[in-house]
Amino acid sequence: MGSDDLRSLLTGRSTRVAVSECLLGRPVRWNGEHNGDTWPRQRLERLFTLVGICPEVGVGMGVPRDPIQLVGEASAPRVVAVDDPARDYTDRLGQYAREVASTLDEVHGYVFADRSPSCGLAGVKVFAEDGSFERVGRGVYAGAVLAGYPDLPAVDAETLGDDEILLDFVLAVLARSGVALKPDGDIRELVRDLLAGEQDETPYGAIGFAQAGAENTVKSAR
Ligand code: SF4
Repeated sequence: MGSDDLRSLLTGRSTRVAVSECLLGRPVRWNGEHNGDTWPRQRLERLFTLVGICPEVGVGMGVPRDPIQLVGEASAPRVVAVDDPARDYTDRLGQYAREVASTLDEVHGYVFADRSPSCGLAGVKVFAEDGSFERVGRGVYAGAVLAGYPDLPAVDAETLGDDEILLDFVLAVLARSGVALKPDGDIRELVRDLLAGEQDETPYGAIGFAQAGAENTVKSAR
């Protein structure tokens, strides 16, 4: 059994991961730029189908658009235009998240863009009336998505530059998609190799595969 067999097993399941669309290199940011080079996208693409979603474009804010920011209480911030706080997008983005959520049953993980007042998972700036801020917020879209899917594996993109966090996320996504990984094999190393795109002929004959009902089980036979 070679590494290609494991890749076929994993990728043959069409495991899907939602991603903030600017992370896919699409120029949907407020200033017409993207964040496609800030995270290890190519590594995840070796195993998963990435599905881009931009909530700000989704609610019709257009590209380019005025920048927005979080204001108020960190536990329940509003998201408003930087230059005109009366332009409040909180309800539109929350409603959009609830509409998107109806499609997320077929998604097994979510990678969010860091620091965004819509998509940021943690540490987003929340501004007070006097202009001071604390990095304590969560984007309003990300918050609404995870309120509906609290168990969905979710990460900020830049944290995936840490190999161990990347592996933990990949294994969580695989588990949610129904690939049961026995904890006794050296599965982390195997998945690490696949993420790296290595094609060596390591004797993966020591790795066995078994179909169990609707689930695939990957186990070490060592
Ligand atoms: S961070 Fe989210 S809202 Fe902002 S451009 Fe990226 S996908 Fe769109």
